[in-house]
Formats: sequence, structure tokens, C-alpha cells
Amino acid sequence: MSNKAKGAIKEHSDLHQQMISWRHYLHKHPELSFKEDITSDYIASILESHDIEMHRGLAGTGIVATVHGKQSGNAIALRADMDALPLHEKNTFSHKSTHQGKMHACGHDGHSTMLLGAATYLKENNDFTGTVHFIFQPAEEDGAGGKVMVEEGLFELFPCKAVYGMHNWPGLEKGKFAVHDKAVMAAVDTIHITVTGKGGHAAMPEQIIDPILTGAQIISALQSIVSRNLSPMESAVISITMLEAGHTHNVIPDTVKMTGTLRYFDPALGNKIKQRMQEIITHSTQAMGCTASLDFDDGYPATINTPEHAQLCASAASAVVGTQAVLRDLSPSMGAEDFSYILNASQGAYIWIGNGETPNEPSGSNCMLHNTQYDFNDEILPLGASYWVELVKTVLG
Ligand SMILES: [Zn+2]
Ligand SMILES: [Zn+2]
Repeated sequence: MSNKAKGAIKEHSDLHQQMISWRHYLHKHPELSFKEDITSDYIASILESHDIEMHRGLAGTGIVATVHGKQSGNAIALRADMDALPLHEKNTFSHKSTHQGKMHACGHDGHSTMLLGAATYLKENNDFTGTVHFIFQPAEEDGAGGKVMVEEGLFELFPCKAVYGMHNWPGLEKGKFAVHDKAVMAAVDTIHITVTGKGGHAAMPEQIIDPILTGAQIISALQSIVSRNLSPMESAVISITMLEAGHTHNVIPDTVKMTGTLRYFDPALGNKIKQRMQEIITHSTQAMGCTASLDFDDGYPATINTPEHAQLCASAASAVVGTQAVLRDLSPSMGAEDFSYILNASQGAYIWIGNGETPNEPSGSNCMLHNTQYDFNDEILPLGASYWVELVKTVLG
């Protein structure tokens, strides 16, 4: 790994050491979505100590810090998320969580730290044209803090030409970046199905209408949508993940409730899938004599980059790690991300930074996101912060 860009933040530099200590503080003090009070105060105190102007209070704990370049010009925004997850950390290192049942298992401690590193660096080295807004966003994991910030006037208060996001990616080697031209993360909707029959004695099936058998047929039939109704070139997932039915061995219940998740990239494809789900459920239940309802809770939309902004991100990442280390052909993820709301309100791109690929280690930076042994990789802090700095210079000049 090398920081090739001129003026890049060096490994083992003072700022790198500083970022490690910020990151460890944040890791020790994880807070859940919309409750990032200590986190927000800590970030604000660092910004303040560097004389960086900021706005607080969007979506509750949100912070937007601003650094102006030497010449006036366009404004762009860079975004990091701040929240942690309701997990009990199994790591034993000294910076492990001190908040029982809460853990930075998605690396948002690292994201906030890299953005802080870039903000403090650019404050001292503002040889760029225009303005940079640094968005520290609450509640990415639960509650769509990005959406709330937009609804509360993020872009009216801070008009921007474009906005950029970054997530660490375990499994991608440290020193590498991945940039997608279009789709990066999927849309997610929650599925709710209730099948109603007529319960009764399990030994007298002729007197009942069995919602469990009907539910089982629906689960199987739903799997035909992706395999039979979509082109093999299109991507979607339907997973039924939760069943609620019955209380004992000799009673057929009246109802079966099913919950699941639907993932896709293209909204038109999502609508087509929902329509096919309705048809399958209606006709399966009719055939079996049951009735059913189908509802969706719409979750985060898909995160879709604008190709011209993806190219700017790739150029900035190449300046830091070299073109060979910037992957342009990785498949997008079926995970979801509320940066999509911010992108949909503006334009820009969201990229991945490699968190490390060390297959023999059972824990740490190789652990998948949301694992109780995950940890953000401190060695990539200068790479991520340097990328932000390069991106500002690439986009704004
Ligand atoms: Zn996460
Ligand atoms: Zn995350």
C-alpha cells in the first residue's frame, strides 16, 4: 500500500496517528441510530478545535461542517455515517465497545474518522476552488437518517453540485477501491403476507381450510418469479425469512403470517416482481380455498451512481493507489444503503474502500460487516482520507 498522490496523507503520519485515536474513541462509544449524542459532540469538538465552521441539528445529531477553498466556486458534499448496531461485541482488543449491547460492526466509526481527517487536512491545505460540505449523518442502519437530513433541508441549506459517499468493504484488499458506474447497492422492501383459512382439528382435515399448506405452496411459487419471470441478466432476490403459525401439534391454525425481504436495483423491475407476487398469492389461495393479503413496507431505494461522477471518483482513487488498484467491474451488492436518498436528491457516486482480505484471520478487518468480531482497519484511514482530499481537487479543481 502506498499513498501515491502528491500531498496524500501518509501512513504513520501525525494525522494518521490522530485518526487512529479518534477512531478508537468512536469504536469504544458506539451509539444506535438517531442516538449519536456522544459521537456528534465528539466530532463537533474536533471540528471546533480546528476552527471549522459547522451546522448542527439536521436529523437530530447530524453535523454539516464546511471548509472553503482559496478561490470561490462550486460546492460539493462528502458524507459519512455515524451510527452503530445493536450487537454485543466479541472482540477483546483495548478499543472494544464499552457500551453494552452496542457495537460499531459496520465501520461507521472509520467512515466518520476518514471524513474528519479530510476536513482537518483541507482546512489547513485549502488550495482548491469552491466549497466542501462534510456531512456527518445519523441513523444509516435504522431509520434512514439520510432521508431525514434531506427532508429537513440539507440541500436548501447547503446547495451542492454533487455529493459523494464511501463504505469500507471487507473482502476487498486494503489499498484497493471499487467504483461502480451505475448500481452499487440494492433497493429493499419488506414483504408481509397473511394467509387466512379455517382452523380446526388436525386429524379432521376435511373440515378445515389449511393456511399452512397454502403458505408452503406460496413460498415455493414465489421462488419461480426470479427464475421464470425475469431475464437471467436481471437481478433480484425474494426471501421469506419469518413464519408465524400455530401453537400446538394437533390444531391447524386459522392464519399464517409470513415476512420477508425483496431486493432489486431497477424500480420498474421491483414493480413487476410485486405484481407477480400478488398474482401468485391470489391464485394460490383461491385454488386452496384461502384468502390472503400482501403488503410491502418500502425501504431504502437502490443506490445508483451517475457514471460521470463515478469516473471522477475512480480518477481520485487512482491518484491515491494507482489505476490498477481501482476495480471497475465488481458486482453490486444486494445490501442497501440510505445514501440513496441523498443521491436521489442530488447527483454523485458512492464507492467502496477495501477493508482487507486476510482469509486466515478469524476476526478483525476480514470479518464481514455486521459480524460481532468485525473491526474497521486502521491502516486504511490515510487512504480513505487521502481519497476525499483528491476527490475535492479532482471535482472542484
Ligand atoms: Zn451496516
Ligand atoms: Zn454501513
